[in-house]
Amino acid sequence: MLWGEPQGACAAMRTITLKNVSKTFYDKSRKLTPVLAIKDFNLHIEDGEAVVLLGPSGCGKTTLLRLIAGLDEPDTGEIYYSGTPLDAIPIEERGIGMVFQNYVLIPHWESRKTVGFFLRLRDREEEVPEHVNTVANITGVDIENLMGRFPRHLSGGEKQRVSIARAFARDLELLLFDEPFANLDAKFRGQARVELKRLIQEFNVTLVYVTHDQVEAMSVADRIVVINAGRIVQSGAYQALHDDPDSLFVAEFLGTPTINTFWGRVSDGEWDGSYMGRAALPGPQPNGSEVIVGIRPEHIQICDAESGIPATIDRVIPFYAEKYTLLDVWLRKRRWRIQVPLHARFQPGDTVHCLLDWSRALFFDGQTGGRIR
Ligand code: ADP
Ligand code: MG
Repeated sequence: MLWGEPQGACAAMRTITLKNVSKTFYDKSRKLTPVLAIKDFNLHIEDGEAVVLLGPSGCGKTTLLRLIAGLDEPDTGEIYYSGTPLDAIPIEERGIGMVFQNYVLIPHWESRKTVGFFLRLRDREEEVPEHVNTVANITGVDIENLMGRFPRHLSGGEKQRVSIARAFARDLELLLFDEPFANLDAKFRGQARVELKRLIQEFNVTLVYVTHDQVEAMSVADRIVVINAGRIVQSGAYQALHDDPDSLFVAEFLGTPTINTFWGRVSDGEWDGSYMGRAALPGPQPNGSEVIVGIRPEHIQICDAESGIPATIDRVIPFYAEKYTLLDVWLRKRRWRIQVPLHARFQPGDTVHCLLDWSRALFFDGQTGGRIR
């Protein structure tokens, strides 16, 4: 047992509710231009749920996490912990373990003091080693080694491990993680996610985890909330978001290699992509309107010459860890990405023949980016 018996605060549960939360910053470098970081945000997180906030840099993830932690206050809207307004809960009773993107460690404290702070305040210092063990299991590193050092003697990755240890060494109801494993070696990162997920499930702690990395999101989340420009654009399980995106943004943000997209116009009730040819639309669209079609690189097959469309290979890029090869090809005067097995033998300049799986094509409104179903 890693934390002793999961009892008391460890077994406590926590829901989080955000209602119409907005936050604006004023950019000093640009004459106090307002930056609408979070816009009318509504989200409910269940007891013990692992929610990942996924989105590109600058979309508002860190801002949102700071609001959920109560480190910043929203301009409008309310945040509740298990139904109680956050500002009515004293800070020491909030039960939050946090790991920030830019780990903030107190410079003149050695790691042992940082990690033990919460428990020492409560005269429970003897529990510290057990918590440190837990983190060693998560990060796959002998963290005991780091305990006697000051922050200036720790590498980025080591500081991050100490931050993680500090987050766990307390009575915990809620973990708030902001890109916590960004500075760990790739080898440990995968292991850390798996261990984290296991602990969350075992101890029923609610987790809000921020990342821009879809692989990380996929491995940690029960539910992924995709954010763009301070708003929720879609939420759900990874596969559902990937296969059935509501918008071009989600279609392009999720999935590696990135989806192929082609611009076209509606003519005579069909999608007309000029050199790309024509395709049936999923539903009626006004003639002349712009429609973007998306075809994922895995929905293109290389076939024998008779049935396929000829394409010329421009580049061959093997992805060893992901176990596929990416082909950049010219097909019908457009550039395409095609995913093929890792050890398939192709050379730049080769001509191949392609079958497009139009049944898997996704159509988006060229103006709004909304999905046409
Ligand atoms: P993310 O974590 O998704 O990269 P942030 O939440 O850090 O995004 O930032 C969201 C937006 O708010 C960005 O445009 C950022 O520049 C702006 N922002 C964040 N914090 C501040 C601040 N303290 N002052 C001014 N602008 C800020
Ligand atoms: Mg951030």
